[in-house]
Amino acid sequence: MLRIGCHLSFTNGYAGMARDAIEIGANVFQFFTRNPRGGRAKPVDLDDIAEYNRIAAENGISPIVAHAPYTMNPSAADEGLREFAVNTMSDDLMRLNHIPGSLYNFHPGNHVKQGVEIASQKIIDLLNQLVRVDSQTVILLETMAGKGTEVGRTFEEIRFLIDGVEDSSRIGVCLDTCHVYDGGYDLKNNLDGVITEFDNIIGLNRLRAVHLNDSKFGLGSHKDRHAKIGEGELGLDAIVRIINHPALRNLPFYLETPNDLEGYKAEIRLLKDLYRD
Ligand code: FE
Ligand code: FE
Ligand code: ZN
Repeated sequence: MLRIGCHLSFTNGYAGMARDAIEIGANVFQFFTRNPRGGRAKPVDLDDIAEYNRIAAENGISPIVAHAPYTMNPSAADEGLREFAVNTMSDDLMRLNHIPGSLYNFHPGNHVKQGVEIASQKIIDLLNQLVRVDSQTVILLETMAGKGTEVGRTFEEIRFLIDGVEDSSRIGVCLDTCHVYDGGYDLKNNLDGVITEFDNIIGLNRLRAVHLNDSKFGLGSHKDRHAKIGEGELGLDAIVRIINHPALRNLPFYLETPNDLEGYKAEIRLLKDLYRD
């Protein structure tokens, strides 16, 4: 069975997201742990969480991805900004202990003027602090498009980060199809080749989730603009090959396409129809 869902709004809490997921035919979903700008998180609502865990168990919703605020920069030159990122992410991980089996996804960061090497060391420091948090949640590094000075555009950069973590047993990777294609890996014409390269450099055992997006711009454009499924440069055929590929087909897929709930519902229905059971 295809595990597919999309990014949902936290407005009505965990139970609200579970109801939205059921409404649109999703069996997984993603949400922001707090305002993307990195503001305060809502207090933990245990009633909401209990209700969520009940609905999720009854409907087979799992795993959910909590996405860290993307404007935080764990590799910032400024120590205060880095400390803010560590504190925010540690707090997110503690909260996620209420949702067993959840995943925590974040963007490695922007090196700005420091260069990838120095920034990478800072990200590794952050990861070493995060894996010490008392948590079962798997932490995912998202593959990036290489827009501006993003770290994590190449599989080698991701591998370097993982290698620096003392205990990497809870570190995984989330592959974003828009980012990877936009970052220069030809998922459209050479899917097998890209998957083999991922396996050789990072290891498919690290791959825990896929952000399923079409790309508004072409191969290697480094623009990070998501498109609706079939309306971008990747195209529907390539996306159908991705969800059915033996190395990927059992992973959970999360749509981050520019859509409202109705639009997501239609994309989920389309992809379920095109998934080979
Ligand atoms: Fe992301
Ligand atoms: Fe993404
Ligand atoms: Zn993106």
